[in-house]
Amino acid sequence: MKRAVFPGSFDPITLGHVDIIKRAIPLFDEIVIAIGINADKKYMFSPEQRQEFIRQTFSNEPKIKTASYKGLTVDYCKKIDATFILRGLRNPADFEFEKAIAQTNRKLSGIETVFLLTSAETSFISSSIVRDILRNNGDVSVLVPNTVIK
Ligand code: ADP
Repeated sequence: MKRAVFPGSFDPITLGHVDIIKRAIPLFDEIVIAIGINADKKYMFSPEQRQEFIRQTFSNEPKIKTASYKGLTVDYCKKIDATFILRGLRNPADFEFEKAIAQTNRKLSGIETVFLLTSAETSFISSSIVRDILRNNGDVSVLVPNTVIK
């Protein structure tokens, strides 16, 4: 069973995340979209709301599961028997940040991180910009799945 964890804040899930997830479906038997809970971070949506957006977006996709976790991502992976971490790369800044984390995670646990490169159509999308637009009552319908709009 090839199980991957896609860890992130998903505050909220965007079409950028959806693109990475859909393209990863053929690579794994199961992908757990896992919301990492960091007590020091301020979020716009509760973990339950964020999980509900994900659940509704992928309601027709049996390979996609969602969960939330606290603590180290590698510990969570071991707990649920996942041997891969999935991440998306948008730009050189993502690469620099992700490189150190992926190398550390592999050293700590042997877990391999699989990176998918963002699609040209969604590379500019980020949850933080979506939150800014929402705070100012703007329209995010071209940036997030319909389940978030509702
Ligand atoms: P985190 O707080 O871990 O950065 P995010 O929810 O912002 O959580 O992102 C989770 C993952 O999704 C990261 O690997 C990030 O690079 C990726 N990602 C976010 N937006 C996009 C996008 N538009 N295209 C590709 N990957 C993306």
